Amino acid sequence: MKTPQQHGNLVWLGTPAFPEAARRSLGDTQLRANLRHATGTIREKRLAVSAELDDWEELRRSAAAVKRATLRHLNQHLLRLEKSVTAAGGTVHWAADALEANRIVTDLVRATGEREVVKVKSMATQEIGLGEALAEAGITAYETDLAELIVQLADDRPSHILVPAIHRNRAEVRDIFTRAMGQWGRAAPPDLSDDPRDLAEAARVHLREKFLRARVAVSGANFAAADTGTIAVVESEGNGRMCLTLPETLITVMGIEKVLPSYRDLEIFLQLLPRASTGERMNPYTSMWTGITESDGPQEFHLVLLDNGRTATLADTVGREALGCIRCSACLNICPVYERTGGHAYGSVYPGPIGAVLTPQLAGVEQASSLPFASTLCGACYDACPVRIDIPRILVHLRAEAVEAKRRSGVLPTPEALVMKAASSVLSSPVRLSTVQWLAARVGRVLGRGGRIRRLPGPFRGWSEARDTPVPPAESLRAWWLRTGRSQGEGAGREGS
Ligand code: SF4
Repeated sequence: MKTPQQHGNLVWLGTPAFPEAARRSLGDTQLRANLRHATGTIREKRLAVSAELDDWEELRRSAAAVKRATLRHLNQHLLRLEKSVTAAGGTVHWAADALEANRIVTDLVRATGEREVVKVKSMATQEIGLGEALAEAGITAYETDLAELIVQLADDRPSHILVPAIHRNRAEVRDIFTRAMGQWGRAAPPDLSDDPRDLAEAARVHLREKFLRARVAVSGANFAAADTGTIAVVESEGNGRMCLTLPETLITVMGIEKVLPSYRDLEIFLQLLPRASTGERMNPYTSMWTGITESDGPQEFHLVLLDNGRTATLADTVGREALGCIRCSACLNICPVYERTGGHAYGSVYPGPIGAVLTPQLAGVEQASSLPFASTLCGACYDACPVRIDIPRILVHLRAEAVEAKRRSGVLPTPEALVMKAASSVLSSPVRLSTVQWLAARVGRVLGRGGRIRRLPGPFRGWSEARDTPVPPAESLRAWWLRTGRSQGEGAGREGS
């Protein structure tokens, strides 16, 4: 595993640019088989349960409307949230970037005198590299989500928003548990099988002692209601619920875009999220809390509101739509590119279509200039998204930004840019266009076989090897028009007048 590095606001893995990383992933047949099976299964379930609701499309439209309206007045909703949480006995902290958020959380844990915390699965804490920051401060963070536990034990990186270990099959998980569980606590049974029930039981026993011992928990948040100060976390296993209720201190790190104006808005999102993410009708565990409740649950609650590039994203009228994401991962599961390359190729904690638009905005388009091109623009992500985020539109917008950033930095133009420039010159001059068409027809006559050119010479050879190029016609439309069409057209015009 490569050492995580901080690039701008995001923990960046230091992987190569997407095309090279994707090429490596494509050669891993086991990875592709694991992904095909896992994404295909979730996809089928999502389609089945969303089709059960007559008002699915209305729910999607409502969610998109709420998110867009909230983002327009984000500052007001956040201030209201701060007031509500504080009134309910919690403490709100504001973090401009990953460094500040990590420092706040580390100081809060240190103040308790504890050297270990239990963690609820959270993308925001992955984004800022909180686990690594705590480790540097001598604090051990135990992942308690089953898939996150697999990733942690394997010293691996997550490859999916919802199922971080989607690239592992159950035989690999059995090997990881047998090899590594003992180094982090209670060891797995030596005769552990790869039956999912046995694997889940081994994880349950391993985690139980940590839940009972932990005095501090760290979580993310799916939603926060500004009017009541209520925070919501949804999950499937119940391990998050253990972290949110047993420890004395709870620290929640939440991206500022997760706020909703009112508690009532949850009725939309709690119908959409489970169906779009895991293909379930409702989340098995929906935990909600409002500040502190005396003698019940954590008696100290801190909410860290994380910006980390979100305010800058908000300033982009096209790109800001990505902040409406509720991290359901439906766009990953439907994406033909993700299904073949897996999440590691994206080199970010946010893989897939949403990662391709979110990472360049949070980290800076220069840091992730290949990601907006990691798509066929087929539009399946837009159709699947429960919040109707127009990912293809944002991708095209970011592609233009990436090209502009390269031009500004003085990087030599790519072969594609040179071809585009030449095409622009030819298409803007009728004389040049006629000359090129005449030349292409002659070249086609020499190189073509059966109406196709199999291989072009020179620098076009690599391009043409993967494609069959039709032989250009002996006479272009333009030449044909000049020879026949103009006189017929003129005649028709005269008759009509
Ligand atoms: S962009 Fe839409 S489909 Fe993709 S993870 Fe976010 S909410 Fe889900």
